[in-house]
Amino acid sequence: MWELIRANKRKSMTLFVGMGFLLILIGYVFGSFYEPDAGGFIGIFFALILWSILSTVSYFGGSKILLGVSGAKEVSQEIHPQLFNVVEEMKIASSFPYMPKVYIIDDPAPNAFATGVKPEKTAIAVTSGLLERLSRYELQGVVAHEMSHIINRDVLLMTFAGMMLGAITIISEVFLRGLYFGGGSRYKSKSSKSSGQAQLIIMIVALVLAILAPILARLLYFAISRKREYLADASAVRLTRYPEGFAAALEKISNSDLDLQKANKITAPMYIVNPLKKKGMKLSDLSSTHPPISERIRILRNLQQGANFKNYQQAFEMVKGKKSDLIPPSALNDPASIGILQPLVTQQTFEEMKSAKREVGDVLMKLNDFKFVNCTCGLKIKIPPAFKQSSFKCPKCGRVHNI
Ligand SMILES: [Zn+2]
Repeated sequence: MWELIRANKRKSMTLFVGMGFLLILIGYVFGSFYEPDAGGFIGIFFALILWSILSTVSYFGGSKILLGVSGAKEVSQEIHPQLFNVVEEMKIASSFPYMPKVYIIDDPAPNAFATGVKPEKTAIAVTSGLLERLSRYELQGVVAHEMSHIINRDVLLMTFAGMMLGAITIISEVFLRGLYFGGGSRYKSKSSKSSGQAQLIIMIVALVLAILAPILARLLYFAISRKREYLADASAVRLTRYPEGFAAALEKISNSDLDLQKANKITAPMYIVNPLKKKGMKLSDLSSTHPPISERIRILRNLQQGANFKNYQQAFEMVKGKKSDLIPPSALNDPASIGILQPLVTQQTFEEMKSAKREVGDVLMKLNDFKFVNCTCGLKIKIPPAFKQSSFKCPKCGRVHNI
């Protein structure tokens, strides 16, 4: 398994190195623009320093920031046993040594993400909308996908790549503004005719780069992100052996046209499906952080022979209609044959869905410090934390309860 992870990384590494090259290039060109002699190297130095600072901050605080801005609350086994058990199951199935923390985000849009750059400190967060909609088997698929991001160390890679994108964007922006406000090089005055021409060339190159580099970096970043999504899907199926459960989950998630309230462009790539559907990131394939869901579902439903990486690769090529190098050769040669479970009856009845919704509602109230009192008339009364009186009347039977 760990051999595979390294191989996976090497592939995404090529794209990652491409971004690094862009960062160094803009550092060099912008530096040369201001100081033709040694400025290029000073520029590279500053570009790398900026990237290191951004990376350090997000390496140590990224998880907390992400969980914080998305309004995630940690849950224990008592609060949501099913979710907790599913995470534990997938942790065991993947023989990952550390249990991720489990979080719930109070949001009706169904979605999920994984975070944590160190294996011993990871977390999986799901929205209440997801818990309301999915059956146990479907939830398993989603959690397996998130668990796969953790095992494949995707969070680490996406953190460094994301900060590289950030650094390139910031530097280009600052350069363009400097140009707009400050004009050209300070060394214009001493220039002879030929060096003036060189200046002009550098200026044009710098201008073109300042506009194109952020766009190119974004495309590279999205390409890495999409690759990691497919790989996480392939690993998820290998864990659950039940592609139909995961396909059904993705279908339910994509049928909801709700946008996640607390997602933004920075956090979007972290989620299992793009949380910003309505805010218009649906453009072309190239500018998307996620592969089209319909395609992911079709690949999963094409897995008939087994749940091994080889099988996923075959289904992937069938759906895409072309050869691909998605899965590294070391994983394709994995001789283990993993059978898939045949579709179960996972259709929930209307009553089951209603009770699931009620349960999730109760969990959220517990997370928000609500108290629960069971009245003898059968009514379950939820008391908000702001309620300060020492007793209250049951709204159904009128019995008085002391808190
Ligand atoms: Zn994902």
